[in-house]
Amino acid sequence: GGAAEPPPRLVLDLERLAQVPSEKAGPLQRYAATIQSQRGDYNGKVLSIRQDDLRTLAVIYDQPASLLVDQLVSWGVLDPDARRAVRDDDA
Ligand code: C2E
Ligand code: C2E
Ligand code: C2E
Repeated sequence: GGAAEPPPRLVLDLERLAQVPSEKAGPLQRYAATIQSQRGDYNGKVLSIRQDDLRTLAVIYDQPASLLVDQLVSWGVLDPDARRAVRDDDA
C-alpha cells in the first residue's frame, strides 16, 4: 500500500464484543472498558480506539497484530477494512 493512504479507523462493536465468550475476549473486554472509563464514554455501541492500542493488545494476546485483527474480524468486533492497519507493519 502507499504511504499516503490513511490508516483505517479502528471501531470496536461493543455489542458484538459483549457476546464473545470471555475466555477468549476477556482481556479485550477489560481493555475497552478501561478506555470507556478513562474517557467517561459509557453509552456507546461502538468505541474508536487508537492505532497504538492494537499493538498493545497484540502484546497482551501474545500474537502478531495481523492474527489478532483476523480474530476480531471473525468475531464481528472489527470491520474487515481494519486489516489495512496491520498489513504493512506487522508486529
Ligand atoms: P491523554 O492521552 O492525555 O488525552 C487527553 C485528552 O486529549 C483526551 O481526554 C481527549 O480529550 C484528547 N485526545 C487525545 N487523543 C485524542 C484523539 O485521538 N482523538 C480525540 N478526539 N481526542 C483525543 P479523554 O478522552 O477524557 O481521555 C483521558 C485519558 O484517557 C487520555 O489522556 C488517555 O490517557 C486515556 N485514553 C482515552 N482514550 C484512549 C484510547 O483510545 N487509548 C488509550 N491508550 N488511552 C486512552
Ligand atoms: P465517525 O467517526 O464515523 O463516527 C460515527 C458515529 O459512531 C459517531 O457519531 C458515534 O455515534 C459513534 N462512535 C464512533 N466512535 C465512538 C466512540 O469512541 N464512542 C462512542 N460513544 N461513539 C462512537 P457522532 O458522535 O454523531 O459523530 C459523527 C462524526 O463526527 C464522527 O464520525 C466523526 O467524523 C466526527 N466526530 C465526532 N467526535 C469526534 C472526535 O472526538 N474526534 C474527531 N476527529 N471527530 C469526531
Ligand atoms: P480522531 O479523534 O479522529 O483522531 C485521528 C488521529 O488524529 C488519531 O489517531 C491521532 O493520530 C491523531 N490525534 C487526534 N487528536 C490527538 C491528540 O489530542 N493527541 C495526539 N497525539 N494525536 C491526536 P488514533 O490515535 O489512532 O485514534 C483513533 C481514534 O480513536 C480517534 O480518532 C478517536 O476517535 C479515538 N481516540 C483515541 N484517543 C482518544 C482519547 O484520548 N479520547 C477520545 N475521546 N477518543 C480517542
